[in-house]
Amino acid sequence: MYYIGCHGITIGFHRYFTHGSFKAKRPLRIALAIAGSLAVEGPLVRWVADHRKHHKFSDAEGDPHSPWRYGETVPALLKGLWWAHIGWMFDEEQTPQSKYAPDLIKDGAIRAISRQFVVWTVISLMLPPVIGGLVTWSWQGAATAFFWGSLVRVALLHHVTWSINSICHAVGKRPFKSRDRSGNVWWLAVLSCGESWHNLHHADPTCARHGVMRGQLDSSARIIRWFEKAGWAYDVRWPSQDRIDARRQKETAGAA
Ligand SMILES: [Zn+2]
Ligand SMILES: [Zn+2]
Repeated sequence: MYYIGCHGITIGFHRYFTHGSFKAKRPLRIALAIAGSLAVEGPLVRWVADHRKHHKFSDAEGDPHSPWRYGETVPALLKGLWWAHIGWMFDEEQTPQSKYAPDLIKDGAIRAISRQFVVWTVISLMLPPVIGGLVTWSWQGAATAFFWGSLVRVALLHHVTWSINSICHAVGKRPFKSRDRSGNVWWLAVLSCGESWHNLHHADPTCARHGVMRGQLDSSARIIRWFEKAGWAYDVRWPSQDRIDARRQKETAGAA
């Protein structure tokens, strides 16, 4: 359940719906919209609108969740990290969806999936206890499955997703040119399904692979490759060596 929701977010909500890093046949498009909704991170259209705004203003005024919002001193950064991690979601100001996600609003099925967010939340939370109850044929099994498979799973996924907004905009390596503070954070790569190679992502947002360097695990990119082989995804924007090299930070050592 964790990796279904996580890849629904990373492959679906993020790389596909927000950035259009590949094209999907209709059934895959619908499946990705539903899988991402099972992560309980808010309605699809709202998620995409917020995230597009994040890229437009990344770490500047207008970014819905920058950890640098309050300044660069240590107390200001600590306050900003809290804001970028959780606080921003309780902000009353919402990103105008007609301005940032008109392409999704036009699609009736996608609009419906987005509106039925509560339904997907209930399904996502009820599936583990139903399966746990049936497999063990006991209430105890259902309750245990609800605790680990529903509550803990959703909480963990939320914290990992939010960490991309907070941690990956405060620390990490920055081998690529981007106009913000996004960084590559290796220890979040597996749990975040490859999204913590966040510096590359801001340097080249439509790229289907975020972990472009040797050894950088990116399970989302691997699965997109499988979708492509199956014929469900096409026009995938894979990184070329030239494109990666063009975005590399110039060596500063020894520069005059
Ligand atoms: Zn970012
Ligand atoms: Zn993005």
